[in-house]
Amino acid sequence: MNSANGAQPVIDMRDATKTYELGDVKVEALRGVTFAIMPGEYVAIMGPSGSGKSTLMNLLGCLDRPTAGHYLLDGTDVSTLGDDALAHIRLKKLGFVFQGFNLLARTSALKNVALPLFYAGVGTRTRNDLAARQLQEVGLGDRVDHKPSELSGGQQQRVAIARALVNDPAVVLADEPTGNLDSQTSEDIMGLFETLNDGGRTIIMVTHDEDVASHAKRIIRVRDGRIVDDQATARG
Ligand code: ADP
Repeated sequence: MNSANGAQPVIDMRDATKTYELGDVKVEALRGVTFAIMPGEYVAIMGPSGSGKSTLMNLLGCLDRPTAGHYLLDGTDVSTLGDDALAHIRLKKLGFVFQGFNLLARTSALKNVALPLFYAGVGTRTRNDLAARQLQEVGLGDRVDHKPSELSGGQQQRVAIARALVNDPAVVLADEPTGNLDSQTSEDIMGLFETLNDGGRTIIMVTHDEDVASHAKRIIRVRDGRIVDDQATARG
């Protein structure tokens, strides 16, 4: 799976399965998925409802473990880690962007962005400096003291993106990041993702929108718990 220059994949999913047991009924949400993602890639994951995208995203995000198979995140096999170790690796290695932004409502943009640093034990001053710099980077340097209700949807998603980046994660995971945005604002956010990827950020995004997915450089398509297609886009 390694590329010619010998770099190590940041995501290495090996025959991962996920079976949910509901009483006597077993639901095979993932039936053995294998793929690798190299640092600096920008990948969209697509598939119809019920195909296993959320289940795969939960595995990628270390919110759940595969039933069988392995998942190596930045070289660490996380498939068998306990809850505390998973939470720790999530904080260190991953940044999350959600459809609904998931910002703390009564808290300033600066403090929202600084939150992962607080959990990581970073002191107040450094936290605020890093958060301010990150807000600057997503174009919100003049909105640090605004609360989410004082920001547009696109600005709120920028705050969430700054929060996802502030820990300098190995991978940014975005779950329908434009799902709550109008088409012009979606384009703006996709433009920001492109800029971040051009700067070297590794991005994985789940979307059902072909236009949104076409901004990525590679699309992995899932159906019935399996990968059915994995190809570079025109941008790839
Ligand atoms: P998608 O995100 O593509 O809509 P999901 O990963 O949510 O797909 O679901 C894949 C399959 O797994 C579906 O059949 C769904 O009903 C089932 N499933 C998802 N989560 C659970 C769960 N917690 N318990 C039982 N079945 C689940």
